[in-house]
Amino acid sequence: IIRNEADDLLEKDRQYLWHHMSPYKEKAAPTVAVEGKGSWITDINGEKYLDAMSGLWCVNVGYGREELAQAAYEQLKSLSYFPLSQSHIPAIQLAEKLNEWLDGDYVIFFSNSGSEANETAFKIARQYHQQNGEPTRYKFISRYRAYHGNSMGALAATGQAVRKFNFEPLAPGFIHVSPPDSYRRPEGQTIEQFNLQCALEIEKTIVWEGKESIAAIIMEPVITGGGVLVPDPIYMEKVKEICQKYGVLLIMDEVICGFGRTGKKFGHMHFDLKPDIVTMAKGLTSGYLPLSATAVRRDLYERFKSADEFGYFRHVNTFGGNPAACAVALKNIEIYEKENLVERAQALGAQLRQGLNDLSNHPLVGDIRNFGLLLGIELVDNKQTKEPVAPAKIDQIIAECKNKGLIIGKNGATVAGYNNILTLSPPLSSTDEDLEFIVKTLREVIFKVD
Ligand code: PMP
Repeated sequence: IIRNEADDLLEKDRQYLWHHMSPYKEKAAPTVAVEGKGSWITDINGEKYLDAMSGLWCVNVGYGREELAQAAYEQLKSLSYFPLSQSHIPAIQLAEKLNEWLDGDYVIFFSNSGSEANETAFKIARQYHQQNGEPTRYKFISRYRAYHGNSMGALAATGQAVRKFNFEPLAPGFIHVSPPDSYRRPEGQTIEQFNLQCALEIEKTIVWEGKESIAAIIMEPVITGGGVLVPDPIYMEKVKEICQKYGVLLIMDEVICGFGRTGKKFGHMHFDLKPDIVTMAKGLTSGYLPLSATAVRRDLYERFKSADEFGYFRHVNTFGGNPAACAVALKNIEIYEKENLVERAQALGAQLRQGLNDLSNHPLVGDIRNFGLLLGIELVDNKQTKEPVAPAKIDQIIAECKNKGLIIGKNGATVAGYNNILTLSPPLSSTDEDLEFIVKTLREVIFKVD
């Protein structure tokens, strides 16, 4: 694209396009992507960037996969749309495949986005308790710092104040507890003690709120957008025990952690537990088309068989489970399997971590943590007090990476000023050279800042 055309597009972008999560007048022009191949995208000026955020944790199999475009095309030609109040072949096949990947006995409800998948899970949980003879169970517990979506329920579950306060009141009935942020644990506590304490806070919350009032706990295996907060196994062990003890359902938000990102098919598989409900989106289609799913354990689903007029799940989603999106998801899962991308994510994550390990000697780097190919680098002004670095410094690092052709992210927002965690989540299909480029570029940039 020639210079004038690029300028013209940028001007129209400024005029007509409302960007997500961006200030009204952006200081820097946005990256206008034109095409993508593997881990790299090219913008309107012909510049190439390695996208170490996979879009927004989406493009797990990389950009530009011919076979995914082909799967969408073939499906659109034969059957472009049909609602899932009835059925179609790609939805049937995908539901069966997801059940296999979940390694349990689940029934699948399709929607279009992670937010909708979580919203669906909340409604299923509430109605399940009603049909199970416990209509007082309507509250949900989630963690501060977690992100669960943009809709009024999913945002209520979200534990990041900065995303919420312009829109309140949100849906009532959502309660938050402390996240297992081991890096910021009180002095003198071991990681295990601290994680145990966080899990016990959930139990205390259930008791104080009234144990007959809690419908479910929703959590990600690792809090991702809130800064890559990896729990100790004891935390999940306790969560499982608490859910069983109080009859509280466990909803696992696998929107980011699912589909190999953490080095297992789903993030919860690192722990010895079987969630009652699993939600997924992003990596389900690697972002090629919008699709999400809410997987519900069969014994819960069985409760929706009542002959009563209100006994079934009265929830419709016009585009949910669109045939082309399901066909793309099936092909996308085939790619994960054929190219062993789940195992590759584990290996690449370890490699990335290894390559960046000595960054922890840098005065700004408070903590480096990864869970498979999900990596966070927490930047602080002072390693003793753990005071977050100034936002301008983080932005400077991100901008310098971008100048050198590397896109990385930042996360962590609890309150303003705590968005201090650099985040890397490159495609699972990244080559060894891609990984080397990420490590080399990030090291150069971070070792240069003071
Ligand atoms: N859950 C988690 C853990 C997420 O990270 C996101 C999106 N970043 C969502 C839910 C919401 O997904 P969507 O943007 O597709 O609605």
